[in-house]
Amino acid sequence: MKIAENTFNSPYQADKNGFYGRFGGAYIPEMLYPNVEELQLKYKEILADPSFQEEFQQLLTDYVGRPSPLYLAKRLSEKYGGHIYLKREDLNHTGAHKINNTVGQILLAKRLGKKRIIAETGAGQHGVATATVCALMNMECVVYMGSVDIKRQAPNVARMKMLGATVVPATSGSETLKDATNEAIRDWINNPVNTHYILGTAAGPHPYPDMVARFQSVISEEIRKQLLEKTGKEIPDYVVACIGGGSNAAGAFYHFLDEPSVRLIAVEAAGHGNDSGESAASTVLGKVGLIHGAKTLLMQTDDGQITEPYSISAGLDYPGIGPMHAHLFESGRGTFLSATDNEALAAAFELTRLEGIIPALESSHAVAKLKDLALRPEEVVVVCLSGRGDKDMEAYIRNLDKF
Ligand SMILES: *Cc1c(COP(=O)(O)O)cnc(C)c1O
Repeated sequence: MKIAENTFNSPYQADKNGFYGRFGGAYIPEMLYPNVEELQLKYKEILADPSFQEEFQQLLTDYVGRPSPLYLAKRLSEKYGGHIYLKREDLNHTGAHKINNTVGQILLAKRLGKKRIIAETGAGQHGVATATVCALMNMECVVYMGSVDIKRQAPNVARMKMLGATVVPATSGSETLKDATNEAIRDWINNPVNTHYILGTAAGPHPYPDMVARFQSVISEEIRKQLLEKTGKEIPDYVVACIGGGSNAAGAFYHFLDEPSVRLIAVEAAGHGNDSGESAASTVLGKVGLIHGAKTLLMQTDDGQITEPYSISAGLDYPGIGPMHAHLFESGRGTFLSATDNEALAAAFELTRLEGIIPALESSHAVAKLKDLALRPEEVVVVCLSGRGDKDMEAYIRNLDKF
């Protein structure tokens, strides 16, 4: 089950036009056709090339540090029941799952003959992962980042600059991730020949959601092997992942999509609560709409203006979800829960004190829902620990007295 194969004709995978049920597609301005069409025509062939796969796997092993461990969290399991395993994406180079995708896309960009890379970033994790692979491959790198986020995430801005990237502030709208994405798309329209846009999540126009899901699918490929080794069974009862755009969830779910006994739990950010006006839970608050080239579930006003999302975690602070997830939600294949800022903070402190692992705030949203699963003693749960908490220390320090 490699990144390029459709080993099954799954109703949960993109069809040839990039649709998941009624979600997905490529609703793009005419100016973007050449770029997107080039990718649509070539991505599967490039990913299927054995020399591409070999280079990708090699870098995942030697550079990213894969396979990431699957760790049985004993004290957490004692507390919530069942056998709780953590998939340690936090131990990857640069500290999160994002690097799996940026390594894949930089190799793709090279094969397309591109010389320049652009990317959007929110908290800066995807920007850092992109700047990292650009240093590795000697490519020019421009990262768009909302000016509000640039102020909030100074250490990551410094890392990107040290890695040689140019960080360009996005000063429109709320000056956060959505606006940075708009700026990146604008740049791409103006530079269709020499530039590849490394999108950081399983969203955007076809083929990005499918392509990013394939690069991240290494997560569930490894989970199956590791579970088999550790428990004699490669199928867990639950897979739990947090969801911003949906790339770590897509990777963690990928090889379980057609295993109906596996419950797929996606956890969105509920901010101060879904009724508070400050949330980012797109399946709760969203309606069908278009954002960044895809039809999906989107937070919007009655007349279709995108609503500003809110979450304590910059990585989940996005008003939509990727189309694969919109379809998992609508079809009922996935279960969508949401965790508030305070639930995520409490889970982060608890995981740290029970297991000695300081998680990213995003990942803490997934951990926070263990308490709602009512696990039976024999059940096996895998939680995707998408990233580490270094970048969130300021938020944790502010809350040390509360938890
Ligand atoms: C970016 C990020 C996320 C959210 O992005 P997805 O594409 O939904 O996975 C989650 N966790 C961490 C640590 C991140 O950096």
